[in-house]
Amino acid sequence: MTTVRFDQVSKLYGDTVAVQGLNFEVNDGEFLVMVGPSGCGKTTTLRMLAGLETPSYGRLWFDDKDMTLTPPGKRGIAMVFQSYALYPHLSVYRNLSFGLEIRHESKHDRDQRVRRVSDMLGLTKLLDRKPSALSGGQRQRIALGRAMITEPRLFLLDEPLSNLDAALRTQMRLEIAEMQRRLGVPTVYVTHDQVEAMTMGHRIAVFSHGKMLQIGTPEQLYRRPMNREVATFIGSPKMNILSADVVGSADAPAFNLCGSTYALDGAKAQAFNAPRGRKVHIGIRPQEIHWVQDSPGRCASRLKGQVLSVEPTGAETYVTVMCGTESLTARFPSFAPVAEGDIVELAFDTEDLHIFDIESGASLIDERALALESVPALMRA
Ligand code: ATP
Repeated sequence: MTTVRFDQVSKLYGDTVAVQGLNFEVNDGEFLVMVGPSGCGKTTTLRMLAGLETPSYGRLWFDDKDMTLTPPGKRGIAMVFQSYALYPHLSVYRNLSFGLEIRHESKHDRDQRVRRVSDMLGLTKLLDRKPSALSGGQRQRIALGRAMITEPRLFLLDEPLSNLDAALRTQMRLEIAEMQRRLGVPTVYVTHDQVEAMTMGHRIAVFSHGKMLQIGTPEQLYRRPMNREVATFIGSPKMNILSADVVGSADAPAFNLCGSTYALDGAKAQAFNAPRGRKVHIGIRPQEIHWVQDSPGRCASRLKGQVLSVEPTGAETYVTVMCGTESLTARFPSFAPVAEGDIVELAFDTEDLHIFDIESGASLIDERALALESVPALMRA
C-alpha cells in the first residue's frame, strides 16, 4: 500500500522545461489519469515515477520514503507501455513468468501466479502461443498480466490502449478500470484521450506546457473547471467559448452576450467576482444549451440564431448556430427536424455558465463559494 507524493518536482532537458513545479499526491488505491495534449509532460512525469528519469529539482516520495534517486528495480513498480514490449521469442506463459524467474521465485509459486493471472485476464487457453500469434487485445492483456504478476506497489501505464481499434479500446478501458478497482493498487495512467480519462480515473490531472493545470474528480473537472484550457479539453463536443461584457451592479451582476443582457442569480451571482465593464469569455457546454422546444423548465434564458450546420450522431444532434457575431454548438434531440439556414431559438440556464478571464483563462467564478454537495468528502479538504 503506497501513497506517492510529488514535492515541487521539475525536469529540464537543456533549455527545455519538460515539467515544472509538480505538487500533487497519488492516494493509496487511487486510479489517477494524467491527460493533456502531445508534449505537455505526461510521459516525463511517469518516467520520473518509474525512476527512468531523475528530477532536476524537487523530491519524490513513496509514503514517507524519499525515492527521488532510487533506481527503477528497487521501486516496486510495474510499467505497461504503448508498445506492450513483449518478448517475441517467448511463449505467453514465459512472458508472464519472466519477471518472477529473474527474481528467482520457485517454479511452484511462478506456476500458481501465472495460472491465477491468466485466469483473471482470460489468457489460460493462450499460454503456449507466441505473441506473434495473438491479436492486439490479447497482447495488451499479456502486458497487463506481466505487470500484475509481480504484485507491484504501483502500476504505471503509458497510453496502453492507443494501438487498439475503437471497439477494443472501449472494452479494455472497462477491463483495466475493473482490474484496478479489484487489486486496489495505486495506478497512474497516461493518455491524451479525455474520454479515457473521464471513464477510468478516480481523479484526473490535466497537463499543459509542462504544468499541471488542475487535478480533481471527473465531475469536478467537468462541472468546475478552474480555467478555460481545462474547460475546453474535458468534454465532447468542446465547450463553447463566447465573448461578453460584464454589466449590472456588484449585487446583481449581468453580462451582454450576442446582443442581449443576461442576469446571473443565486449562488453563481455571489461567486462571480469580476469588475463591471470588463470583457470576459463565457463558456457553455453544448449539452447545456437546448432547442427551446426541448429545453428543461429551468432554462429561462433565450438566444436566437441561424443554423450553420447540423450533425446527427444518432442519439442526439449537434447543431451549430450563428447568434449575432458568435457561433455556438447546441445539443438537439435525435434527428431533430432542423436544417441549415433555419432560424432557431435556444434556451439555457445561467447557472450552467462558466466565466473566464480573457487573457489568463482563469475562472472568474469562486468555486469555493459554490455548494460542494456533489464533491466527494475526500476532495473537500
Ligand atoms: P506525448 O503525448 O506526445 O507522448 P507528453 O505529454 O508525454 O507527449 P513528454 O514526452 O513528457 O510529453 O515531453 C515533454 C517535453 O519534454 C516535450 O517538449 C519534449 O520534446 C521534451 N522532452 C522529452 N524527453 C526529452 C529528452 N530526452 N530530451 C529533450 N527533450 C525531451
